[in-house]
Amino acid sequence: MTTESTISKKICVFCGSGFGNKPAYADDATLLGQKIAEKGWGLVYGGGSTGVMGAVARGCATSGGYVHGIIPEALIARERTTEDALNTKLKESIDNHDGSTPIPDSKEYGKTTLVKDMHTRKRMMGEESEAFVALPGGYGTLEELMEVVTWFQLSIHNKPIVIYNLDGFYDNFLKFIDDAISSGFVSQKNGEIIRVATTVEGVLNEIENYVVPEGRFNLNWKDA
Ligand code: AMP
Repeated sequence: MTTESTISKKICVFCGSGFGNKPAYADDATLLGQKIAEKGWGLVYGGGSTGVMGAVARGCATSGGYVHGIIPEALIARERTTEDALNTKLKESIDNHDGSTPIPDSKEYGKTTLVKDMHTRKRMMGEESEAFVALPGGYGTLEELMEVVTWFQLSIHNKPIVIYNLDGFYDNFLKFIDDAISSGFVSQKNGEIIRVATTVEGVLNEIENYVVPEGRFNLNWKDA
């Protein structure tokens, strides 16, 4: 069993709260979760139990890996309703919230932290992780991905960002980036921020071999 003190790095995975229309979306999410556990890494994710998101968490946690889900109260109130510890804590914290509320470990979803809003969740996910991976998903996934990409571009962090382009799911998005480069809105160097993998192993390799592209804006955020 991997614990927070023994893991070498934490990977934040953004992905759909739905399953999509191909079994491979959830199957490969499960596999990625298992591989993260096997490597002795940890998983940070959005804390839900549904869709691709639930699959990656269960894959990691049930393989003995460290999982930390960070989720706003408004979202968790709609799911994981059968977990007593979580529900007791949720009731206590709803009127008396002090920023973030840790929930005891679940076998399937690891540690959960309840937060007040989406901004707190994304800040915590970003700060706690050493790399970001986007699996197939919808608006939520894209928004989370683009936030860490723009933060990278602004030198707020320099952590690897990898898209898992399963079955060409992200082809149109990658084409959009190429178009933005050729239209002069994204620099050639910033076009290298996102690395792309087409297999689960490839995702792990991209994280391990990530080279920070030069040429970002050199802004100072220390005093912000
Ligand atoms: P989407 O790609 O639109 O399905 O949104 C997925 C992302 O939005 C996840 O990474 C979560 O951070 C967040 N999200 C959306 N729905 C839920 C949910 N039911 N439970 C937890 N997080 C959710």
